Amino acid sequence: MSQEATILLIEDEPEIRRFLRTTLPAHGFRLHEAATVHEGLSAAKAWNPDLILLDLGLPDLEGTEVIRQVREWTATPIIVLSARNQEQAKVEALDLGADDYVTKPFGVNELLARMRAALRHASRSADSPEPVFSLGDLMVDLGRRQVFVSGKETHLTPIEYKLLTALIRYAGRVMTHRQLLKEVWGPLHVEEGHYLRVYMRQLRNKLERNPAHPRYLVTELGVGYRLRTE
Ligand code: CA
Repeated sequence: MSQEATILLIEDEPEIRRFLRTTLPAHGFRLHEAATVHEGLSAAKAWNPDLILLDLGLPDLEGTEVIRQVREWTATPIIVLSARNQEQAKVEALDLGADDYVTKPFGVNELLARMRAALRHASRSADSPEPVFSLGDLMVDLGRRQVFVSGKETHLTPIEYKLLTALIRYAGRVMTHRQLLKEVWGPLHVEEGHYLRVYMRQLRNKLERNPAHPRYLVTELGVGYRLRTE
């Protein structure tokens, strides 16, 4: 039996709180709730949760303030619950150190998948990724730096490989354009969105059966990319 993870929900909308109050404990999570940034910050310090679900539109302050303050003392995963058309706010939250987001209204399966990916990542040390990553017909041997599609070795350029391994490190979670540009090209190139578009297209052409409808390398509109894991 795995130990149940403690979740802190910082959200002021009663319907979402009611929904999560019934669903999360039913899936083996222990839930604490807060309705404002101030309550959320004291609850985070009091409970040291394994994961934080954070609404961005809170009554006292911007939800991003929680990310700013929590990231000063812990790397605990933060998933943002955001409204539709809040691309800018989502990107800001992710760049501040949130791990992922779901867009309201969200289904419980989508939320649970995001939570599992974030908790899995947190339980692994960031500098020791799984030696082999596999997903459908894609297999990446990170130790040998070899990539296989349907058992056939596929040659990637150094940049393509770097881009793929950055996404593998964040597998299942979204990465913003800025984060990817910084990881692959370095901090001086975070505005060069066209690099990313060009290399993502090349990578999809090599790895996806139908690059126009990618199964693995998914676009998160206005935000970034996600390597799907399930
Ligand atoms: Ca709200």
